[in-house]
Amino acid sequence: MSLSDPATPVSGSLFMVVAPSGAGKSTLVNALLAQEPAIKLSISYTTRPPRPAEQHGREYYFTTVDDFLARREAGEFLESAEVHGNYYGTSRLLIAEQMKAGTDVLLEIDWQGAQQVRKQFPHAVGIFILPPSIAVLEERLKKRGQDEPHIITRRLLAAGGEIAHAPEFEYVIINQEFATALSELTAVVKATRCRFAQQAARNASLFAQLGIHGTLN
Ligand code: GDP
Ligand code: ADP
Ligand code: 5GP
Repeated sequence: MSLSDPATPVSGSLFMVVAPSGAGKSTLVNALLAQEPAIKLSISYTTRPPRPAEQHGREYYFTTVDDFLARREAGEFLESAEVHGNYYGTSRLLIAEQMKAGTDVLLEIDWQGAQQVRKQFPHAVGIFILPPSIAVLEERLKKRGQDEPHIITRRLLAAGGEIAHAPEFEYVIINQEFATALSELTAVVKATRCRFAQQAARNASLFAQLGIHGTLN
């Protein structure tokens, strides 16, 4: 079955945004969603305690280790991983429903989760956010003011290992100047929506009228 075959069952695009902690992933994603409300953000389950500014059901579904492991055992997660000493997982239910409806879905996950998702959705679009330097990463984590110093140290120590996975992603955005990084993220979303399969699915009758039947050859 060809990607460009209109008979291919096409769903919405699946975006995976991955970054070391403090690179600006959530800030970029929130700004993107403010511009592109049609994209659905998957809200993960986590065993991490909520930060002072976080709300259950908004940033995460905060839960206990026992509950998380029971859900994982029951097959509720599309992917799950241990990151910085806490469990994180993506609910399978929401993703399946949105994708079937043709809605674009965005996952803010770590590189381990991205590898698991890629096996199930080979056309998922991987975007890695890099900080301009490790010194800037440290400064942003401190300035965010949401984590204890020992948590910040742990996350900084993990950053190099996470960044080593950047080559597994199709797109890399360097979040130096925020407006530039946001426009690059928006460009990736817009370009993905122009992929042949996505356009063919959204404009089936136009493609039929124009006699476009799909394959590249
Ligand atoms: P952040 O780094 O400031 O965004 O801190 P968080 O505690 O919110 O996230 C910690 C790590 O877990 C990050 O790498 C997230 O991308 C990752 N993460 C969050 N949700 C999920 C998830 O559902 N699945 C996986 N695999 N990773 C997740
Ligand atoms: P992540 O979700 O990757 O852990 P955040 O989105 O929480 O990171 O961003 C970390 C901190 O850096 C936040 O305080 C945010 O306001 C700030 N930040 C994000 N992008 C930039 C940027 N381009 N320039 C300066 N500060 C930024
Ligand atoms: P934080 O605790 O700072 O919100 O997130 C720390 C890390 O966990 C980030 O790298 C974030 O992307 C990752 N993370 C958050 N949710 C998930 C998830 O559902 N699955 C996976 N695999 N990683 C996640």
